[in-house]
Amino acid sequence: MTTHDIPATDPVAHLVRRRPDAPVFFFRPDRLAETARRFRAEFPGQVTYAVKANPAPEILETLASAGIAAFDVASPEEMARVRAAAPGAVLHYNNPVRSGDEIAAGRARGVASWSVDRASELDKLSALAPGTEVSVRLRLPVAGAVYDFGAKFGADPDVAAELLRQVAARGLTPSMTFHPGTQCTDGAAWARYIHAAADVAARACVPLARLNVGGGFPSHRDADAPDLARIFDAIGSAARTAFDAPPTLLCEPGRAMVAEAVTLCLRVKATGAEAITLNDGVYGALGEWRDLPPAARIRVVSPDGAARRGDPVRRVVFGPTCDSLDRLPDALPLPGDVAEGDYVLIPGMGAYGAALVTGFNGYGARDVVTLGAAE
Ligand SMILES: *Cc1c(COP(=O)(O)O)cnc(C)c1O
Repeated sequence: MTTHDIPATDPVAHLVRRRPDAPVFFFRPDRLAETARRFRAEFPGQVTYAVKANPAPEILETLASAGIAAFDVASPEEMARVRAAAPGAVLHYNNPVRSGDEIAAGRARGVASWSVDRASELDKLSALAPGTEVSVRLRLPVAGAVYDFGAKFGADPDVAAELLRQVAARGLTPSMTFHPGTQCTDGAAWARYIHAAADVAARACVPLARLNVGGGFPSHRDADAPDLARIFDAIGSAARTAFDAPPTLLCEPGRAMVAEAVTLCLRVKATGAEAITLNDGVYGALGEWRDLPPAARIRVVSPDGAARRGDPVRRVVFGPTCDSLDRLPDALPLPGDVAEGDYVLIPGMGAYGAALVTGFNGYGARDVVTLGAAE
């Protein structure tokens, strides 16, 4: 990854000056720090960051200096990245399935908290990581998320109650966790889970040390920014109603924390009446597009920095590789006067953009330009 620094905060100034032919991630550390501060000020509990959304060193370092002190990791590689960027940070290993070697790697790096969704994983942990916090991961059928995370991980309420009893019986610190999905726009998704978690804890007769309400907070994809404060209120009030003595709450946002900090800039390689070819695609930074298209707020500028303002025309969009699957699923409305050499600026691409780049066929966005920092 190449990082250049340029003082201006406007990506177009950089484009006009440098005319990059390869894709560029424009990173705004000030925006990331601002989002972290907002989560810390408004979420009714502790705020951690789900590293998988974007594990780049500059992201982890910015979050650590904005006061994010704990990170949700899912692999030894993610632990190493956090330790390199923020040596004193607290690690939560919330991938519920781990090999014995991965547990040992977590122990060696001082993991403070783990999650489980089945008895066999609890057996491994109580042997290999005695005395730590173990969160039982609950799942419910969920409406309103783009993906259903319960399809892979989580214990149904009866199993969760039994696991929670076992966690307490084995002298581990009992907590619970869930993950409602991703890009959930309705606080009700969390409230249902919070009530169900309180019910599981009551049935198990085990008071929870902490309740981790996962990630899933929405990023800005439509014309209007999502209302995070309303979701935070729904979470806080559900916890107060569901528990007599609410446990400490914890969240682990990925997408909503980092998305707005990065604008992806792609270049138009060729145009035709019906199709357009860009310099990155679904094997690169647009890997999530099939499930979650970033529809609104795209702008196109000429190499001189002039905004293209033609009436929108829907065109098929191909990526740069020689694979015929390398196209966006739906035609994309772009200004009718878009031309070869133009730049397409896509805001809100900080989450699951860089993290999903494959490098297939030698393509895939790599370059990061940090905006607002000294040269
Ligand atoms: C992916 C993931 C997150 C982050 O999800 P976002 O939708 O990006 O906020 C948080 N917790 C767990 C357990 C996850 O798997």
